[in-house]
Amino acid sequence: MSLSPTLPILQNYIDGQWCYSKAADYLDVVNPATTEPLAKVPLSPATEIDQAAQAAQTAFPIWRRTPPTQRVQYLFRLKALMDEQFEDLAHTITMECGKTLEESRDEIRRAIENVEIACGIPMMMQGTNLEDIATGIDEFMIRQPLGVAAVIAPFNFPGMIPFWFMPYALACGNTYIVKPSERVPLTMQKVFQLIDRLNLPPGVINLVNGSKEAVDAILDHPAIRAISFVGSTPVARYIYSRAAANGKRVQCQGGAKNPVIILPDADIEMTTRITADSAFGCAGQRCLAASIAITVGEARQTYTEAIAHTAATRIVGNGLEAGVQMGPVITAQSRQRIESLIQQGADEGATVLVDGRLPPSGYKQGHFVRPTILQNVDPAGALAKTEIFGPVLSLIHLETIEAAITLINSGQYGNMACLFTNSGAAARKFRYEAEAGNIGINIGVAAPMAFFPFSGWKESFFGDLHGQGQHAVEFFTQTKVIVERWSQKDWSRKF
Ligand code: NAD
Repeated sequence: MSLSPTLPILQNYIDGQWCYSKAADYLDVVNPATTEPLAKVPLSPATEIDQAAQAAQTAFPIWRRTPPTQRVQYLFRLKALMDEQFEDLAHTITMECGKTLEESRDEIRRAIENVEIACGIPMMMQGTNLEDIATGIDEFMIRQPLGVAAVIAPFNFPGMIPFWFMPYALACGNTYIVKPSERVPLTMQKVFQLIDRLNLPPGVINLVNGSKEAVDAILDHPAIRAISFVGSTPVARYIYSRAAANGKRVQCQGGAKNPVIILPDADIEMTTRITADSAFGCAGQRCLAASIAITVGEARQTYTEAIAHTAATRIVGNGLEAGVQMGPVITAQSRQRIESLIQQGADEGATVLVDGRLPPSGYKQGHFVRPTILQNVDPAGALAKTEIFGPVLSLIHLETIEAAITLINSGQYGNMACLFTNSGAAARKFRYEAEAGNIGINIGVAAPMAFFPFSGWKESFFGDLHGQGQHAVEFFTQTKVIVERWSQKDWSRKF
């Protein structure tokens, strides 16, 4: 294909070098608020994954023998560089992904937090030991890195999600390949410009842009030992089964349909503010976005009025502009899909209480869907079960917390569930019974800090060990148990 001379062509970073891909196909990277093309991203062929995997495999023995205390020095420097380039990184996220500048700053803060936690690897990676399991015999368990690992990332957090895995993988002594989403590859270009300044041994960390061909090459490459994936559930299921069939260690975080319950004793003003931020923050394109609000008893009327007002008055526009509270969704196809799901809800009998299907005034371009509230959504209908991944909140009313928990637990996903209440007993019952890996009590986005695992359940997660914190250390290491006998009669001998 011919390439426009005016648009920058993104490069891969393999074996410590920036290099142009030999891809046959390129995609435009587009600012979703303006539809302005920003760059062209190569859809790299399988051969370039092979080059990255070979470089990473060659670097592995060198990197593995670098003591953990030295390995983390590179991460300390990366953190300093990310702090220094903080505003530029946040600006890049907003340009390619559309979220507001403040949301992009939050995202980069979360990425940096994971680098900070991974700097504790010399302690987190320690094994265990026991002397004299039998007289004169000691046993201990050490953790060793796996080899080459890779991450396949989604579009909605281009700066943060690779950091749920990459700093831990490196600190544990693995070498690494990052495959960003082809829709938002610019932020990782910026991150790798910083990585390039670290003077790591070549091949320790590599960047390959691409889509399905590159992903399939990762899944099948014999040198790649472990794969982390974050994205939609159908792709998660595919990646999990193909990578596992190839004998790889694999963790796949999938889609979500997150419910929040509002009990009559909840503080409605606080609940409205928090659930609106959850449902409409990042334009609803967040795996921890509230998608269903279940009102119980008398909460129905007060909450419905308050959330409708908040949704209708939220300021939507270009995330770079001051005062904007919500940006666009990622593509025109996304907007069309969200709008058709709103229509599907209406066709299933819901009332479109606040309709976001018209663009905000002053924006002729851009993939905008404004906050939308659907009332009386059928709990048994398809919409109540479908991930929308846009700024749409469905209201369902039930008479008891038991009925609400039963509805939540009947869902296919289990990423997050939240309860709004002033009752400790209700809160305990909820956190005990709700089938979700991340629980919020008077919290709208129950995103775990970097020192806790990101614990999706059911079809929101395929695998065992999650990203972040100690789970990441376990995922990126294999244990070795050593049983050792040294005769005591030799102790008095001169050495
Ligand atoms: P996606 O599944 O379309 O893409 C994710 C990655 O998979 C991309 O890198 C893409 O190149 C690759 N890919 C896509 N289709 C593929 C195929 N057929 N074969 C091989 N590779 C393929 O997801 P997305 O649209 O980028 O992201 C949104 C989804 O991610 C939502 O479902 C959201 O819930 C989910 N998500 C989940 C979490 C979580 O922690 N559970 C976090 C963020 C996003």
